[in-house]
Parts: sequence; C-alpha cells; structure tokens
Amino acid sequence: MIKFSLICDSGHVFESWFANGAAYDQQAERGFVPCPVCGSGKVTKAIMAPAIASHRGHMIEGRAGDTNVVEGEVIPPMPKQAPQVPPALLDAQSQAIRAMIGAMREKILANTIDVGKSFPEEVRKMHEGEAPEHPIRGEATLEEAQALIEDGIGIMPVPAAPEELN
Ligand SMILES: [Zn+2]
Repeated sequence: MIKFSLICDSGHVFESWFANGAAYDQQAERGFVPCPVCGSGKVTKAIMAPAIASHRGHMIEGRAGDTNVVEGEVIPPMPKQAPQVPPALLDAQSQAIRAMIGAMREKILANTIDVGKSFPEEVRKMHEGEAPEHPIRGEATLEEAQALIEDGIGIMPVPAAPEELN
C-alpha cells in the first residue's frame, strides 16, 4: 500500500491509499479517484510543499504554483537545545515580583490599623454597624477567617513579607 497526497483541479488536497504507484496511475487516468470535496475526477499528485524555516525558526508552508497552496506535512526541525531563559533574567523577574508584593504589603500596612488578635471581633463589629468602618488588619485563625467569609464579610490576606518567601 502506498499513500499519495492528491490535488484536484479545484485545488482540494486529499490523501488516498493505493496498492502501488501503477494502480494509482491507472485509476487516476480513468477518473476513478474522485476528489472527496467536489467529486472532480481530475486529480494529480500533489507536490509536497517544502518547509522553509525562517531565520526566527517559524515554519512557513511553501506554495506550489500561484493559486493552489499545497498542504504538506511540516515537520519542524528539532531544536539543537531547549531554549533556556538566562538565569539573570529569572532573577530579575522574581525580584520584580517580590518588590511588587513588598510594595503591596507596605501599602496595606501603612493604610490599616493593627488590631491584633481582636481582628475577627472588630471586623464583625464594623460589618454589623457597631463600629465605624475603617481599614484594619490583624490576626485570625483559619476557622475565624472562614467564618467571616461565610458571613459575607470581605477580608483578604496580607501578602507575606518578601523575606518570608525565601
Ligand atoms: Zn475538489
């Protein structure tokens, strides 16, 4: 069995199996190999388009003739080595992220009042209107935090200090 890529006179590309090359020639000559898209019996072997690698490594499909683009199987070349991000760049990225988290933390710390362990209590008071609304921060156990969220009270964790991320 042999597989040929075929193209009809309308430019449809398809693949078909034949017992051998001669069988294809006989069947194609008699119009016994209809295009599955338009039914045209005028088919010829498609020329496999060469894959052209640009200098950037992207694959461009070659063109056969002016009107018909032949779809060939494009096999990208194996990269000689996996692309690697320079370690210096990774460091810069993670430092930038840490700086961002640190800045966010600074902002939260600067704009909230630390109420310590009475945080859940204070937040509830504000939520129920017993205390004036003001931004606070403090400590809560996981259970306390979950209870607050369940009661529809908006709380958010203060980002960890950059040194805690190490
Ligand atoms: Zn066709």
